[in-house]
Amino acid sequence: MSLLGPVEVRSLAERLNIRPTKKLGQNFVIDGGTVRKIVRVAGVTPEDVVIEIGPGLGSLTLALLGEVAQVVAVEIDPVLAEQLPLTVAEMAPEHAGRLSVVPADALRIGPEDLPAEPTALVANLPYNVSVPVVLHLLQILPSLRRGLVMVQAEVADRLAAAPGSKIYGVPSVKAAWYADVRRAGPVGRNVFWPAPNVDSGLVSLVRRDPPPTSATREEVFAVVDAAFAQRRKTLRAALASWAGTAAAAEEALTKAGINPAERGEQLDVHDFARIAEHRPTR
Ligand code: SAM
Repeated sequence: MSLLGPVEVRSLAERLNIRPTKKLGQNFVIDGGTVRKIVRVAGVTPEDVVIEIGPGLGSLTLALLGEVAQVVAVEIDPVLAEQLPLTVAEMAPEHAGRLSVVPADALRIGPEDLPAEPTALVANLPYNVSVPVVLHLLQILPSLRRGLVMVQAEVADRLAAAPGSKIYGVPSVKAAWYADVRRAGPVGRNVFWPAPNVDSGLVSLVRRDPPPTSATREEVFAVVDAAFAQRRKTLRAALASWAGTAAAAEEALTKAGINPAERGEQLDVHDFARIAEHRPTR
């Protein structure tokens, strides 16, 4: 199947009078090798229903359509959303029936907005909202078993970071609540038009059960947010307002088996869940 190269991407953008905007993170992939690699690393099968966020001009969509049962493409830009079925009808008419386009903001969609239950997420994400999009989809779509997303290299590092590393933080812990998250390779900036001023990285996500805990996800995430809001502080100090006082925070931490002199960056998602279980009633 033919894919979009630099000439096709530019002429399509010109025809549609599209000037890629930074606000919507519009950097379109112009390299067939990159989209083929994304599809291969994603490990999608002919049974998969793939949700793609931000299909843009369709570079990745075209590569996906030949490999999976269905692609549900969610695009916020109405011009791009309207054009995508036409591009597919022209370039891959044999696969056109497998595409559904949802013209919407991915951060605001619910399962009821989608025509099918996605089993996999494969996307070159808009960089300014990549972490909230990943967390939102993992939360609202329990059918999603795995994902392969392209994000800014630094965000890829953060998402996949392990406790103890300098870049471990809120995105790392929250993503770990839902999935086993790993870096899946670097991508240079020259595969995009326009080229962004940062490199990118692939991240693979494999759904796993959340930690067994009596605390809710919201309660656990509240501890995570509080712990990293002041990441240089010890947990005793950082969690003072969460617990009511520093002494109450110390008591909750001790009950959870965590040293109050530690910092949030040393804890894994199970530790945060245990702390949430011991929040003092106020
Ligand atoms: N997938 C295409 C590719 O690889 O060439 C385009 C990727 S581009 C990095 C990001 C795309 O996401 C753009 O098409 C942009 O319009 C779209 N987008 C930005 N914010 C969005 C949002 N909140 N919901 C859905 N789509 C969004």
